[in-house]
Amino acid sequence: MSYINENFLELQDSYLFSTIAKKVAEYSSQNPDKKIIKLGIGDVTRPIVPACIEAMHKAVDEVATQDGFKGYGPEQGYEFLREAISNEYREKGIDIKLDEIFISDGAKCDCGNIVDIFAIDNKVAITDPVYPVYLDTNVMSGSGKFNKETGKYEKIVYLPVNKENDFKPQLPKEKVDIIYLCFPNNPTGTVLTKEELKKWVDYAIKNKAVILYDSAYQAFITEENIPRSIYEVEGAKQVAIEFKSYSKTAGFTGLRCGYIVVPKQVKGYTKNGEEVELNKLWNRRTCTKFNGASYIIQRAAEAIYTEEGQKQIKENINYYLENAKIIREGLQEAGYEVYGGINAPYIWLKVPDGLTSWEFFDKLLKEYNIVGTPGSGFGPSGEGYFRLTAFATRENTIEAMNRLK
Ligand code: PLP
Repeated sequence: MSYINENFLELQDSYLFSTIAKKVAEYSSQNPDKKIIKLGIGDVTRPIVPACIEAMHKAVDEVATQDGFKGYGPEQGYEFLREAISNEYREKGIDIKLDEIFISDGAKCDCGNIVDIFAIDNKVAITDPVYPVYLDTNVMSGSGKFNKETGKYEKIVYLPVNKENDFKPQLPKEKVDIIYLCFPNNPTGTVLTKEELKKWVDYAIKNKAVILYDSAYQAFITEENIPRSIYEVEGAKQVAIEFKSYSKTAGFTGLRCGYIVVPKQVKGYTKNGEEVELNKLWNRRTCTKFNGASYIIQRAAEAIYTEEGQKQIKENINYYLENAKIIREGLQEAGYEVYGGINAPYIWLKVPDGLTSWEFFDKLLKEYNIVGTPGSGFGPSGEGYFRLTAFATRENTIEAMNRLK
């Protein structure tokens, strides 16, 4: 008999996107003449930029030759890409060595896999609402029972973010060991300043905790004093692991590439209190469970760092940011309370009084033929909020706002 990992039975099925798809399909079939505009998409829509395409073509031709053929590459990623990443950090005055960088096939896997190197006894804190991967992967590895009444897992420390605290998570009252932070945030689109992030770094240093910092949306930052990397904050290299993704930065959601930075100074502890470098554990895990990201894709990622690549990806980001501005301003004109959308492709709005997130979803679909994502799908504190995204075409974005206005 094979016994299962019963932790999986504690996972709550997320009906969020399947329910949305079902409701939209039902409405469309009953109203075939209506043009539905989807502002719920969490995926990029603009094509990969020419600099990356050219780099991939070149790499394909290279591996077609005897001399240029590539088999298994280094599990940690090719040096050419790790060097480009390290140089980008250096330009910001941050010293990250090549052996502190691990190239992967995207941040989702890294955010999920990181639980492997931590004990299940850790007290884990997550912001609420949240990108679901942090929570679910902790549940898979044994983070305890789901409480149907509270809608929360008993062992997880939830840090609510809402308009009352200006979407800034407050330091936990109880001592926690692992803290997931994601800024610019999905789903709220809000950010923390360097000073605000410093409080978390200081907390982690004081409590020997580790911050798992997801900056998948750093390319969308437009304002001064908003850190693009947690390592811009003094002391962070002692306590923070950073997840980066090329998905939203350069449209790699389909190509798949990202990286994780695990500085050598970041330590975990054995039960006996002995210090262990997390970098060593992550390297061991990577070598055992991963055979490296594709050479061709890593060449495409390298091209992001060229002058041409930077210029081209900036144009795409600016396109999405302009959409975000149109949504923000359109919603404000229509009388909504709006958050995010300045340093992120996500706009988070307060649903009108008396409605739940799902009731607002239905209203938007039926009255305006617009699809978004109910905030309650991202966690209990998302109830009463709603997410719109800037990834649709300009034309559809403008039309959606005209309908609402
Ligand atoms: N982190 C956050 C906060 C995200 O929203 C996403 C994707 O939506 C990811 C990570 C996943 O990134 P990747 O495509 O690199 O796996």
